[in-house]
Amino acid sequence: MKTLKIAIQKSGRLNEKSVELLKNCGLNFENYKSSLISPVSNFPLEILFLRDDDIPEYVQDGIADLGIVGENMIEETEVDVNYLQRLGFGKCTLKIAIPNNSDIQQLSDFNGKAIATSYPAILEKFLAKNDIKADVRMISGSVEISPGLGLSDAIFDIVSTGGTLKSNGLKPFTDVMSSEAILIGNKNVERPELIEELIARIQSVLRAKETKYVVLNVNRDNLEKVLALLPGVKSPSVIPLAEADWVAVHTVVPERDFWDKISQLKQAGAQGIIVMPIEKIIA
Ligand code: ATP
Ligand code: MG
Repeated sequence: MKTLKIAIQKSGRLNEKSVELLKNCGLNFENYKSSLISPVSNFPLEILFLRDDDIPEYVQDGIADLGIVGENMIEETEVDVNYLQRLGFGKCTLKIAIPNNSDIQQLSDFNGKAIATSYPAILEKFLAKNDIKADVRMISGSVEISPGLGLSDAIFDIVSTGGTLKSNGLKPFTDVMSSEAILIGNKNVERPELIEELIARIQSVLRAKETKYVVLNVNRDNLEKVLALLPGVKSPSVIPLAEADWVAVHTVVPERDFWDKISQLKQAGAQGIIVMPIEKIIA
C-alpha cells in the first residue's frame, strides 16, 4: 500500500508551526534539518522538507500528496489542488505600499507607475480587476528597499506589523489579500481514508486550541444564571460538592470570547474559576 507524502516548509515562518501541528496529531518523526525526507514511524506518511515556493507544484504534480503552505503561494502559483483545511497560523496580509512622500492618492494614480514585488501574479490579477496598467517588476527578496533605490514607485509585499515598511520610509496604501497556512492535497486522491484520518486529527487539534476547559464552583441559588452562560460541548457537567449548597461546573469555553465569558460568570456568582488548556477534542 502506498505511503503518503506531505510537503512542509524546510525552514522559515511556517516550518515550526507545521512541525508542531503534525506532532500534535500524534505523528512520530525526526525533524532532521539536514534531510529532505523523514518517515513517520506510526502512520503511513513521509514528510518532505522543501522551499515553500516548490510546495504548490509538488502537490499539483503528485510528487507530494499533501502540503502545508501559505494561501498566497497557492494564489501566486495558480496551481490546481484541493483546498483541504485552513490551519489558523502564518496569518499575514499582502499590501501595496508607497513612499511617505509619494504623490499617489488613489488607485488610478498607479497607471504608468512601477511596482516591485515577489508576487507578480497576485498583483497582476488585482491590477487587471481594477483596470490599472502598471509596470510590475519581479524582485525575489528585499522588495521594500526598491523605491528608495529608485527602482519602483511602490511595492506589493507581505506586511505583518508594518515595521519594515516604516523603517524604509513606506506606508501601506491598500490591502490586496489576506493569507494563512492551508493544507492542500493532490486532485487524484490516493488512500482517501488516510487523508480523512489526518484531517480529522488536525481538526481536533485546531478545535482544542480554540477552546479552554473551565471548572468553577457556584452556589445552587446561582446555578441557573451560570448555566445560561455556558453552552458547553453538549451540556455542562454539574457535580455536587461536599458543601451541600455548592456545585462544581465543568465546561468548555471558546477562546475568542473567553475574557467576556469569565467576567459574566463572576458576575453571575461563579467562584474559584480554573481554566485549563485542552489537548484534543474528538468530534
Ligand atoms: P523559503 O525559504 O521556504 O522559500 P520564504 O523566505 O520564501 O521561505 P517565509 O518568509 O518563510 O518564506 O514565509 C513563508 C510564508 O509564511 C509566506 O508565504 C506567508 O504565507 C507566511 N508569512 C510570511 N510573512 C509572514 C509574517 N510576517 N507573518 C506571518 N506569516 C507570514
Ligand atoms: Mg519562498
